[in-house]
Amino acid sequence: MGQKVIVIGANHAGISATTHVLDLDKDAQVHVFDADKYMSFLACGMALWIGNQISTGDGLFYSSREQLEAAGAKVSTETEITGIDYEKKTVTYKTKDGEEGSESYDKLVLATGSSPIIPRLPGIDLPYVQRAKQYEDAQKAVEQLKHDDSVKTVTVVGAGYIGAELAEAYQRAGKKVILIDALDRILGTHFDRDFSEVMADRMRSKGIEIHLGELVQRFEGEDRVRSVVTNKGTYDTDLVIMCIGFRPNTSLARGHLQLFRNGAILVDKHQRTSDPDVYAVGDCATTFDNSIQATSYIALATNAVRSGMIAGMNIAGRDIESCGVEGSSGLCLFDLKMVCTGQTVETAAQSGIQAEQVDLTDTQKPAFMNEVGENPEVKIRIVYRRDNHEVIGAQLMSEYDMSATIHMFSLAIQERVTIERIALSDIFFMPHFNQPHSYINEAALQALH
Ligand SMILES: Cc1cc2nc3c(=O)[nH]c(=O)nc-3n(C[C@H](O)[C@H](O)[C@H](O)COP(=O)(O)OP(=O)(O)OC[C@H]3O[C@@H](n4cnc5c(N)ncnc54)[C@H](O)[C@@H]3O)c2cc1C
Repeated sequence: MGQKVIVIGANHAGISATTHVLDLDKDAQVHVFDADKYMSFLACGMALWIGNQISTGDGLFYSSREQLEAAGAKVSTETEITGIDYEKKTVTYKTKDGEEGSESYDKLVLATGSSPIIPRLPGIDLPYVQRAKQYEDAQKAVEQLKHDDSVKTVTVVGAGYIGAELAEAYQRAGKKVILIDALDRILGTHFDRDFSEVMADRMRSKGIEIHLGELVQRFEGEDRVRSVVTNKGTYDTDLVIMCIGFRPNTSLARGHLQLFRNGAILVDKHQRTSDPDVYAVGDCATTFDNSIQATSYIALATNAVRSGMIAGMNIAGRDIESCGVEGSSGLCLFDLKMVCTGQTVETAAQSGIQAEQVDLTDTQKPAFMNEVGENPEVKIRIVYRRDNHEVIGAQLMSEYDMSATIHMFSLAIQERVTIERIALSDIFFMPHFNQPHSYINEAALQALH
């Protein structure tokens, strides 16, 4: 009989780990548990659904219980793992009908993900103060928009990429939208100020009311939330969406596994925890951030899938190491595209890294291409270390879809490429696509002058 693997959590990280064990170790028995009914929900599509840009949430799934079972897994949904005995190597579970049991493992994969941070502020439990994470949250929001005329003003608390996307979605759905953040600008952890301010202006031009540098203190209302009170003002509202970040779900690990400063499970590049028989993947675990050359916490579906893959392959007997990550991400709000990877100048400083930047704004294609079609400007910033000139970050913004450019910077950070190498790298030219001398080379060249 093959090894017995238990996977806790059947979303992106858990599914990825499961399929890779089953692909590579035909004798393995894999039992996947999830407390939820749904699996593989792409939360990234939530804003598109709420904002009516897609008509249904049905396409936001890429796997199912049936598919995992067909691949050879045993799947128990609506079944919560309530405890782990790491000495005896058993887990205990409880089904939604209250049935309890336990099961043993040879290898355990923790893929328990993350939950929205919901601060214990007065009024936080009032009806119409909601979260945005699971399929049920999206479903509730969409039903509300269809059938509940009482929701006219929506307040989004937190102007990171999820809060900003949801602010756009509710505006598209015809609501008055208020966006509040404690920082003095939106998208503060992903983009430097001169990028995030362009986006904030775009959002304001669409009627979104943005309040920055304001700390939410409480929610008021009798039967439901009626207003949000910050340290600077009171705003009437009919619905609040909390988007201030995510906390790793690691209660099952506490007291046994080593944890990172935010409570995430510390893992090495094989996704191994401090217990040799236990792996952790996805949002519940740490990751190695190449841009700071240190362990970090970056909750992204991309990292979840990749880390699940690595754990799965290692459990199946391959010796595979993570390449580390750069936290590359993108967003498109009111058609303005923004992509980023690694550090901004500001986040580098917060990590104690002295960084330099080079900036350039240029059209995507030569001027003569204006006769052929749209030729928008692209704004680029490359961030590199002052000491050794290694590239540690990049940001781009345009109406044009230049998003694929960020992959090159992601790889450059991973491979510790210097700004000088970027300046002289071979970037092709063809008028339909770009300029004779690309803005990537041009921006980087400034560091040589
Ligand atoms: C609105 C929104 C938009 C996003 N957009 C993007 C995007 O565009 N790009 C991107 O890369 N990322 C995006 N993300 C982030 C991405 O969704 C997460 O990083 C990803 O879901 C992490 O996957 P995971 O499998 O690690 O964890 P989760 O998705 O959190 O899944 C964990 C699973 O574990 C289960 N579980 C937890 N505890 C137990 C237990 N004790 N017993 C049984 N089951 C348990 C849960 O029910 C859950 O199904 C977005 C997130 C949100 C909320």
